Amino acid sequence: MKRALLLSTPEQKESLHEVSKALGSRCAGTYDKAAMHVPVEIAEDARRVARELGADCCVTVGGGSTTGLGKAIALTSTLPVLAVPTTYAGSEMTPIYGLTEGGLKKTGRDARVLPKTVLYDPDLTLSLPAAMSAASGMNAVAHCVEALYAVDANPIVSLMAEEGIRALAASLPKVVSNGKDTEARSEALYGAWLAGIALGSAGMALHHKLCHVLGGFGLPHAETHSIVLPHAMKYNAEAAPAAMERVARSMRGSDAPGAVWDLESRLGIAMKLKDVGMKESDIERAAKIATEAPYPNPRKVEYGPVLELLRAAWEGRRPAG
Ligand code: NAD
Repeated sequence: MKRALLLSTPEQKESLHEVSKALGSRCAGTYDKAAMHVPVEIAEDARRVARELGADCCVTVGGGSTTGLGKAIALTSTLPVLAVPTTYAGSEMTPIYGLTEGGLKKTGRDARVLPKTVLYDPDLTLSLPAAMSAASGMNAVAHCVEALYAVDANPIVSLMAEEGIRALAASLPKVVSNGKDTEARSEALYGAWLAGIALGSAGMALHHKLCHVLGGFGLPHAETHSIVLPHAMKYNAEAAPAAMERVARSMRGSDAPGAVWDLESRLGIAMKLKDVGMKESDIERAAKIATEAPYPNPRKVEYGPVLELLRAAWEGRRPAG
């Protein structure tokens, strides 16, 4: 590749200067307007810039939002993406893309958007703040948990998912107490890589559906995932005992939803949907949207119990063991 377009969010544009210096004449230009959930206007603007610069590939440096913008370009241009992830979201390992138009986020799967190369470097995650590291890491744990009880779960992906949970549960407390601990950062990134593969390989269920719906209400992605996860697990616990046993084993606990909740409170993550901007009056609307259309889930998805799940997550109650 000879003409790379480098992508980032405005907050990470400094990293682009460094990559651009290293690439020299092989950098065709930079675009630093990546934003959460890939607004379609930004995707179109970035596609225009790629065309005008005659780019022959995209290099994304950042979290899921930046990787997502590279994917949006790849979707319509087939430009290959080289992803350099700096969070634990895992998008770099999946053929899943998302675009938001008029407040509505749509996702799809397309082999063209899967990055051709991924470069994991724990040094690039040292600057990720503790709160974001913890929430992003639990977003990765959520991919692993749902892969374990997916309708199309398979034994190899389940091994990866279990190992991903183990690596993240072991490393995140160290990352939060010392963000410059390169070994812990490295292990967390290893867990995120496994989680990304799990997300890309197995169909996700109620938990991801709920977070998708709540994302549409403007709630922050990683925090929403971490808050909802123990409650979605509790919802499915009886219907997916083998998956819960594997989660508990990889966290050295006995009750999987409780172990996830306890880890999150130790990490100092926000534990209530009401603390990340969800209005009480939106609980019913969210439950309604999440139960409108059927999708695979270990336990039947029904309005009443989902409403109860969301209320528990809104209030931040510990799921009873
Ligand atoms: P993000 O990419 O939105 O990043 C959050 C903030 O942290 C941004 O301001 C970013 O610039 C900053 N940041 C990232 N890395 C940093 C670092 N190392 N140091 C300092 N600041 C840093 O957050 P995210 O949670 O990684 O991604 C969320 C988005 O990704 C959502 O839109 C979600 O839907 C999407 N996603 C998609 C997939 C998929 O497979 N398609 C998977 C997971 C997430």
